[in-house]
Amino acid sequence: MQQVVADLHLHSKYSRAVSQDMILPLMARVGKQKGIDILSASDWTHPLWFKEISALLEEEEEGLYCLKTEKREEKKTLFFLATEIASIYKQGEKLRRIHNLVCAPNLSVAEKISKSLLERGCNLMSDGRPIIGLSSKQLLELILEVDERSLFIPCHVWTPHFGIYGSASGFDSLKEAFGELSDYIFGIETGLSSDPEMNWQIDELTNRSILSFSDAHSLPKMGREATVFVRKDGISNDKFQMSNKQITYQDIRKAIMKKSDAWRIGYTIEFYPEEGKYHFSGHRNCGVFRDPSQTKKEGNICPVCKRRLTEGVLHRVEQLADRLNKDATLVKENSYGLRWFTDKTKHHPPYVKLVPLNEIIAESIASTVFSQRVKETFSLLCDTFGSEITVLLKTPVSDIQKTVGEKIAQGVQKVRKGEIAIRPGYDGEYGKVTIWQEGESENQSLSNDPPPQLSFEI
Ligand SMILES: [Zn+2]
Ligand SMILES: [Zn+2]
Ligand SMILES: [Zn+2]
Repeated sequence: MQQVVADLHLHSKYSRAVSQDMILPLMARVGKQKGIDILSASDWTHPLWFKEISALLEEEEEGLYCLKTEKREEKKTLFFLATEIASIYKQGEKLRRIHNLVCAPNLSVAEKISKSLLERGCNLMSDGRPIIGLSSKQLLELILEVDERSLFIPCHVWTPHFGIYGSASGFDSLKEAFGELSDYIFGIETGLSSDPEMNWQIDELTNRSILSFSDAHSLPKMGREATVFVRKDGISNDKFQMSNKQITYQDIRKAIMKKSDAWRIGYTIEFYPEEGKYHFSGHRNCGVFRDPSQTKKEGNICPVCKRRLTEGVLHRVEQLADRLNKDATLVKENSYGLRWFTDKTKHHPPYVKLVPLNEIIAESIASTVFSQRVKETFSLLCDTFGSEITVLLKTPVSDIQKTVGEKIAQGVQKVRKGEIAIRPGYDGEYGKVTIWQEGESENQSLSNDPPPQLSFEI
């Protein structure tokens, strides 16, 4: 494997508001259709789910697991042991609510971490994503004490209520949250409402990894954001041996720490941040939303209910940014019409912005994402070209057109080029993507496809 797509933040049916379909065999099956190689086994602190994981999975590579039933199959979906834990505590006279992802190097360490949490009085039975009274720093300390190969990643760092940088109950810096242990934070998750470029503006993130995962609560939402690990070239003296070696837990951990000889983060796959639930400031029930410039002009008080608006991620990033330099990003279109966003300072890997394929199909055929027609068309495209990610990133639009017609092909092309309109999300309300604006010609012709390339550009 030269490239590995990983979605390391997911939830099982044991977490609140999660679909009953979030069970390992279905996750593996849908993961394949979407083109995700490594999924989070998720929620392993929950005793019943842990039993299920232990019964169904076995170690395939060091620290990475696969379904026992898949053992003989050529292409296995791998599972990584990452689980989300919510901490609610007081620090500096302020109530903090923070979500963190805890990654364990293997099942026996995961079990030890759970045991240690139980000894500290945490209730792990109530939810797949348990709420504990330990602070983020205490939790980090605990997992490193159990096994220093564990990894700790603050989740969706900008969300107002549960992010480490959140405006409502977060901190102004990792240093403030973790003190001397902040050196053990090697990466953060951007969450749906922010994209990497927004995070590039924070100094303390310059040498940390900017990660993207889906935080999916149902199968169709898996992979809507993902991190792609790629093999480093020319590092090993013994290339032949290297090329036969599969990725391991340690490879992923060290790539995130930027200390791996074999792997690095190649790029991330992003949701349009405007589509996230907290991009703008606003009040959902009052129907009020504001971008940062409006907030600056009109303040942060809701004209309807006179209370403070829920501060959006965009506004919060501007508050904490050490620099607001839009010129730091290079945007370049590749031969598939896909835009790549590259950090000119070269500190961070590039990224692409996508809209989930089922949303593109639904708007193209004027249906809903849950309809049978959308599901069938989605499956047809994934089966024909290999996976959802392949269709979105690197299938020539002329091939998509031959399979499912011009309108859907045009939709994919418009998403790749960013020729779409989005009404930004705010206060828990998802943003709304519109691929075709009113009055836009239905018969806009597709640009000529260049000849397909052998290798995929990064
Ligand atoms: Zn969360
Ligand atoms: Zn989550
Ligand atoms: Zn209001």
